[in-house]
Amino acid sequence: MLRLQAFRLKVVYKKGSSNIADTLSRLGSHVKDPSWQEESEVYIRRIAANALAILQQEQSSADYDNETEISIRTVQETAAIDISEVIEATKNDAELQAVLSSIMKEDWTSPIVKQYSAFRCELSFANGLVMRGSKLVVPSILRERMLLLAHEGHPGQSCMKRRLRDRCWWPNMDQEVVKVCEKCEGCRLVQIPDPPEPMERRPLPDKPWVDIAIDFLGPLPTGEYILVVVDYFSRHVDLEIMTSITAKETIKRMARIFGLWGVPRTITLDNGKQFVATEFDDFCKVKGIHLNRTTPYWPQVNGEVERQNRSLLKRLKIANALYGDWESEMSHYLEMYNNTPHSTTGRSPNELLQNRRPRFKFPEVEDLSTAILSSEHRDKDTVQKSLGKEREDAKRRSKPSAIGLTMWYSCATYTQPTSSRPTF
Ligand SMILES: [Zn+2]
Repeated sequence: MLRLQAFRLKVVYKKGSSNIADTLSRLGSHVKDPSWQEESEVYIRRIAANALAILQQEQSSADYDNETEISIRTVQETAAIDISEVIEATKNDAELQAVLSSIMKEDWTSPIVKQYSAFRCELSFANGLVMRGSKLVVPSILRERMLLLAHEGHPGQSCMKRRLRDRCWWPNMDQEVVKVCEKCEGCRLVQIPDPPEPMERRPLPDKPWVDIAIDFLGPLPTGEYILVVVDYFSRHVDLEIMTSITAKETIKRMARIFGLWGVPRTITLDNGKQFVATEFDDFCKVKGIHLNRTTPYWPQVNGEVERQNRSLLKRLKIANALYGDWESEMSHYLEMYNNTPHSTTGRSPNELLQNRRPRFKFPEVEDLSTAILSSEHRDKDTVQKSLGKEREDAKRRSKPSAIGLTMWYSCATYTQPTSSRPTF
């Protein structure tokens, strides 16, 4: 309302047949999930967030414009932390330097290392890093960024703690996680208590990508749907954004996913019309996949996917309220979810599915083995390349064009000189 007050409004009647009502108001009637009724709250929050951004801007920028929105969005993404940054920060961290000296002297009486002394048996120092067991001890200057990175994709408290504990540690890390979650505007906005676990649980398959479940989420305010694919063993989630959810399109998307991870033995699904189509049945029969249809009386059997859908809805609402860019919020969520130890299995879905731990923006000890080459080596490489260029230039008797350096450079870069074609 605050923002609308700046305009002079003229109300004109338009027939419904010639006027498509705004998608956000239509959303409520399409989506069965009752929590979507919070949409007006979400909308108001978004306006408030924008208004706040204007207030924080210099007085010179009189009104809100696209640039403001872009700057809000770019602030959302936190830069990855490189292992070399951790080494550098450890060197300059008075507390960790004191810990280091305590490790060396085996003397933990100094008050500055008080919070570390309980873990003295697990603490060590290697390659310029303080470690607790196999986990990095993060220097204080990088902790806030680590917390922001760990909250990307808006995980809940326990999920965020698991995500951090998997790779790093510092004193009072858990309490700081709780604070970040409580302070996050997006999380506060959509907080609803988790519904109880489904009564009937499927036995855990013995291998990844043997039993999977699929379901549709939507339609979204943009009219699109999300195909959610969950692997029961690893809890790995794959998403496909779809504008049309015909059997044909669904088969195409499933084929792409099978191309990535292989063909499963069973698929659990509901009786959605894309899935009851004979075309879909035939596709699965040819691939040797058994279809496991949830009976209407026991929708909880499909609980794993439904739980996923709820988590996804939470992110969609956050994206809608804060930045409006739900597709990138989806990929943040997916990256966060698939790389965080799952509450049931204790390991990340990606680790269980791929039998390796993919890299994330967190610094890792393993990064030391793939760190960027030493500067001495790089200097040599630069000298060699420049000598090579001089030799080549001399051989071709090349000289800078009179057109100007920029033009000469871009032509040299993008054209393939041949004998019949001039070099510029
Ligand atoms: Zn959040």
